[in-house]
Amino acid sequence: MRHLLSIDDLDRAGIERVLDRAASFAEVAGREIKKVPALRGRTVVNLFYEASTRTSSSFELAAKRLSADLVSIRAASSAVAKGESLKDTIATLTAYDPAAIVIRSPHAGAAQLVAGWTDAAVVNAGDGKHEHPTQALLDVFTLRQKLGSLEGANIWIIGDVMHSRVARSDILAFTRMGARVTLSGPPTLIPRGIEALGCSVEPTLERLPEADVVYVLRMQHERMEEAYVPSLREYAMRYQIGTSRLLPHQLLMHPGPVNRGVELSGAAIDSPQALINQQVEAGVVVRMAVLYELLAGAGATAARGVPIGTLETRAVAAA
Ligand code: ASP
Repeated sequence: MRHLLSIDDLDRAGIERVLDRAASFAEVAGREIKKVPALRGRTVVNLFYEASTRTSSSFELAAKRLSADLVSIRAASSAVAKGESLKDTIATLTAYDPAAIVIRSPHAGAAQLVAGWTDAAVVNAGDGKHEHPTQALLDVFTLRQKLGSLEGANIWIIGDVMHSRVARSDILAFTRMGARVTLSGPPTLIPRGIEALGCSVEPTLERLPEADVVYVLRMQHERMEEAYVPSLREYAMRYQIGTSRLLPHQLLMHPGPVNRGVELSGAAIDSPQALINQQVEAGVVVRMAVLYELLAGAGATAARGVPIGTLETRAVAAA
C-alpha cells in the first residue's frame, strides 16, 4: 500500500494485517513509556483544513509514539488563511522531505490530489463527505476486540448518511470483514442507490432489535445547505437512540463529536453498551499501525526505494 486514501486501498487481509499490528501497539500503549523507535528520523506532516479533535490529536500521538518528527498545521492559523493554494502548500511542505502527509479537507478527493503532488505517503484523514478510512479501521478494531470477528454481525448505521464520510468508509470496511450492514434514517439523508455499496436500507427503526451493533452518526449541519429534516425535535423523536431503543446485548458506537440529545440521548452515551471511548482509544494504535504500514511495513521499501532500518523494525517486532 502506497497511500491510504480509501478503504478500497485495503483488501480483507490488508485490514487484518494493519489491525494485528495495532493490537501489538496496544500492548506498548499499556506501558509507562509508550514509545517505539520505528520511525526515528522520519517526518510526518499533519495538515488539517477542517475542525478536528480526535483525529488530529490521535495522529499526533501516533507519530510521536513511533518517534517520528512531527509538523502539525491547522489551516486557520497557517498561510492557507492568507490564500495559499493546496498545491502550493504541499510544494512548500515537500521541501521538508516528509515521509507521510496526513490531510483533512472539506473537499472530496483532496487527499487523492495531494498524492499526485508529493512523494510522501498520503493518509486521508477525512475528505468532505467522501471517506475517512482510519475511522473505519478503528471501528473495525473496536468491534474485533468486543466480538472477536465481524463475520455475520448485523450492524445498523443510523442518521445522516448523506453527509457522512464515516458511513461510506464503514460500509466498505464492515462488509469487507463479513458483516451485514443496514442503513436507517430520514429518506432525505440516505443517498439514493447507496445499496450498491453492499448494504440495505430500512426507513424506520422497527427492525432495530435485530441489530448486534447500533452505529449512530452525527447530524452534519456544516455540510447542509438546506433543511433535510422538518426539525431536530422531530428527528430526535423518530431516530434518536436512547436506552429505551437499545437491547442489553446491543453495542453502541458513534464516531464523535456527539450532538447530545439529538442523535443520542445522554443516558445512551453513558450506558455500559457505549463503545465511544474505546473507539477514541483505538484511534491512536490504529493510526500508529497505518503510519507503520505505509512507512516501515512490508512493501514500503519497494514503493519508495528507501532502505528501512532493520534495527527499528526489529525493535517494534520485539515491542
Ligand atoms: N469526526 C467524524 C468526521 O470527521 C465524524 C463527524 O464529524 O461527525 O467525519
